[in-house]
Amino acid sequence: MNLTRIKGFADVLPGDVETWQRIERAAERVFASYNFKEIRIPVLEKSELFSRSLGESTDVIEKEMYTFADRDAKATLLSLRPEGTAGVVRAYNESKLHQVEPVRKLYYLGPMFRRERPQKGRLRQFHQIGAEVFGRTDPHVDAELLLLLQDLWEELEVPETILELNSIGCADCRPGYRSALVDFLGARRSELCADCDRRLDNNPLRVLDCKRESCAEIVTAAPSILLHLCADCQLHFETVRELLKDLRPEPVVNHRLVRGLDYYCRTTFEWKASSGLGSQNTVAAGGRYDGLVESLGGPPVAGVGFALGVERLALLLAEGESGRPEAPLLYLAWMGEEAQRWTFTLAHRLRQRGFRVDLDGESRNLKRQMRRADKLDARAVLIVGPDEMTKGKALLRHMATKEQTEVDFADIDESLVEPLGPPTRVIT
Ligand code: ATP
Ligand code: MG
Repeated sequence: MNLTRIKGFADVLPGDVETWQRIERAAERVFASYNFKEIRIPVLEKSELFSRSLGESTDVIEKEMYTFADRDAKATLLSLRPEGTAGVVRAYNESKLHQVEPVRKLYYLGPMFRRERPQKGRLRQFHQIGAEVFGRTDPHVDAELLLLLQDLWEELEVPETILELNSIGCADCRPGYRSALVDFLGARRSELCADCDRRLDNNPLRVLDCKRESCAEIVTAAPSILLHLCADCQLHFETVRELLKDLRPEPVVNHRLVRGLDYYCRTTFEWKASSGLGSQNTVAAGGRYDGLVESLGGPPVAGVGFALGVERLALLLAEGESGRPEAPLLYLAWMGEEAQRWTFTLAHRLRQRGFRVDLDGESRNLKRQMRRADKLDARAVLIVGPDEMTKGKALLRHMATKEQTEVDFADIDESLVEPLGPPTRVIT
């Protein structure tokens, strides 16, 4: 049997994982400054949760979910989560978070699963960092989420991005637009792809989102939803734009920007990378979904959120990325059983103090241990053999200068501060 990764599933190896850690830490910091709390939800949910929240006629539900029957008597259908919002809403409702305080600002991070065609920036297991705000209908919170993302890009020094904004109206004004769009698309039905032919009947707005060039070409002339917005939706949209007027580069209004998922209303947005990602250039996307919480059995509480793709963000940052500066490494080289036992205990004590320490587990000659220390990029090596054990002194070697000094066992901690810097944990 050929034991390899599943197609579309990726490993993140040391060397790359540092970029991920930097993204996650920056996100945690930025979310904290906007007073968001983290929520952790399962990767597996009842399939029904997703079909009810995402809508039956979406690509995700129709063809991308990993779904299987559980081994229970009813063979309950379960799905690996294709996105985070549905699960967060379920948790909000199930734990009755609104009873304590209806306004909640939550964020999550973790893997999502969609069986799409893998390509650069598109995997079958990918990762999202997402935010959901419940209980706020005001446009200020829409703008706040976008400023939060802008802060994250700044913190990570993401190369140029552009924000596209739209409003897709509400239950009052969208039906009017929908019929105008159906009239327009109906006249060119024969030119649409097979998917869009179907969408025209059950979800015509999604034709605007089709990635096929021929469909994209047709919809360039489609009527604009922005001309169909009711007064409330118009005011909401104008306020969001006004609150973001200082963003640089300025947000671009794209009246064809609809979100793939069914539950959106009013504000929708996509944050795109200007270069570096090819056609998979949307890094973050989101919008408002005021009816979703209630439609999943909760109270009538508004919602707005976004999800950003970690793989795509990591691709943008990959060049020149170094990650968290690690503490310098101390390598312990030992010879003989007595020295092994002694360095094993010493390593534990130094690690507890916050030094970064490594050592070999097998008996090897000093030369091979020094080579290993070199490979691991150790800043200093402490050498202990039978002679040193007898004398109660070790040899401390600075790898850069190749200088060696003798240190008393009793003075080891202090002698490390010069080559390695102070330990991160000071035991008093
Ligand atoms: P796309 O238009 O690229 O298919 P989408 O509209 O399906 O994206 P959302 O469901 O809005 O994507 O997810 C938000 C973000 O998650 C995307 O902007 C993207 O960065 C990331 N993302 C979505 N699907 C994938 C995938 N299969 N692989 C990697 N990242 C993804
Ligand atoms: Mg998609």
